[in-house]
Amino acid sequence: MGKKVLIAGGGHGGLCAGAFLAEAGFDVTVYERHDRDGMGYDWTDIFDPKALAAAGLPMPPEDKFEYKTDMTFYGPGEHTAVQQHVPADQREIKMERRDIYDLIIDRCEKTGVQFRYGCAVEGPLMAGDRVVGLKTADGDVYGDLVIDACGCNSPVRAGLPACCLVEKEAKRFEKFYVYRAFYDRAGDATDKYKVYLLPEGKLGIGWVACEEEYADLLIGRFDPFDEAEVERTADAYRKSNPCLGTERKRGGEFVQIPVRQPLSVLVADGYAAIGDSAFMTVPVIGSGIGLNLRASKMLADAVIGDATETYSAETLWPYQLAYFKNCGAGLAPLAAIKLLLTRISPAQLDYVLDNGILTSDELTITADSTSLTSFLHFSPDLAKRGAMLVKDKDLVKKLAKVVKDVGEVSAVCAAMPKYYSKHGVEAWKKRYEKVFS
Ligand SMILES: Cc1cc2nc3c(=O)[nH]c(=O)nc-3n(C[C@H](O)[C@H](O)[C@H](O)COP(=O)(O)OP(=O)(O)OC[C@H]3O[C@@H](n4cnc5c(N)ncnc54)[C@H](O)[C@@H]3O)c2cc1C
Repeated sequence: MGKKVLIAGGGHGGLCAGAFLAEAGFDVTVYERHDRDGMGYDWTDIFDPKALAAAGLPMPPEDKFEYKTDMTFYGPGEHTAVQQHVPADQREIKMERRDIYDLIIDRCEKTGVQFRYGCAVEGPLMAGDRVVGLKTADGDVYGDLVIDACGCNSPVRAGLPACCLVEKEAKRFEKFYVYRAFYDRAGDATDKYKVYLLPEGKLGIGWVACEEEYADLLIGRFDPFDEAEVERTADAYRKSNPCLGTERKRGGEFVQIPVRQPLSVLVADGYAAIGDSAFMTVPVIGSGIGLNLRASKMLADAVIGDATETYSAETLWPYQLAYFKNCGAGLAPLAAIKLLLTRISPAQLDYVLDNGILTSDELTITADSTSLTSFLHFSPDLAKRGAMLVKDKDLVKKLAKVVKDVGEVSAVCAAMPKYYSKHGVEAWKKRYEKVFS
């Protein structure tokens, strides 16, 4: 029997890593709190189709996906519409979440990954500094490696002792509280996919996307909110979005999405985090599926390549290096830019959009959103347009802080230790986390 890998939670990246490992002869078991039919959300997701191949997955049949519609951005005052223009060959695809899970679980089952559905993970089991298994609602289980794919609020990550060097929680402004539901489609829509930045001056974003059969509503805030606030916000959107009906057809869940820099340390002895539990999303918008799928191969390569078969922080470190080199180092600066949303005033954001300082060029998000430059497309005359900001000294100060933080986090990522030593990694982690403190 191969070495035993326990996957905590059926997160996308964990499952895909598990399939690569099972294929390579590892004995892989997933502990998932829901039953098979309860996995995933009752809505659609947008992601880069190229990430499927990176995770060993086939392209879905044509009737299972469509290409994403361009978004139109509005500031808090809703005076100006800025529409993106994503080139046809760089568009993301939109799929039902349950169809994405079908693709992934089909591959897992074919490669021999085993599933314990309806089994909640409660935390890690430790032997000294090493993670040796999982506490589950059905009892303790032991293995050679635990992959933490339990999502944003993972009880495994949160239960690790300080000696593992893994951050336990996301702080305020590092995750979005989100409500999403599909309503009946009432009237017509001027723009098919409207995205609101700091809507009504509230800290967060929102969208109303009009599909043929329904209207897709998302409310994302940096602080929790309740059903009454959903109703009030939806009513406010209905005034300028006649397509948004009142009958909720699908979804209607409150969830959380990490919108921050990747977890500073992804590995410990006997442990690796992936997906939302490792905060692997695009910080400004919270997309994580493409990054998850890409990370799965990087994690599997590090595990399969560990000739010592110890799966220690030291031997799993190549996974951390690969993730930061290919995605994390490019995305961490976006977390500094995202913080601007928490500092800029609604009037300042309106000024930037109304005066064409940020245009469709800058807001065109392509499928390959794995770095600052592939995410934000700075047009050549941005600097000239930016000169208009000089009048607003407070805004200039806020932007200067962002530029400083972007420079700092890029430099810290470039200085990540090439090899794991507790002392070296601890010192590096402090520098990385300080940028966002
Ligand atoms: C409203 C919304 C819209 C989104 N839209 C997009 C999008 O369009 N494109 C995109 O790329 N990303 C999107 N995301 C983000 C995306 O959902 C995540 O980044 C992605 O799912 C990766 O997360 P994950 O698979 O690691 O974790 P999750 O999706 O959170 O999966 C974790 C799994 O672990 C299980 N689990 C959790 N706790 C336990 C426990 N204690 N015991 C056992 N099992 C447990 C859960 O049931 C779940 O199956 C969206 C997220 C939300 C909330």
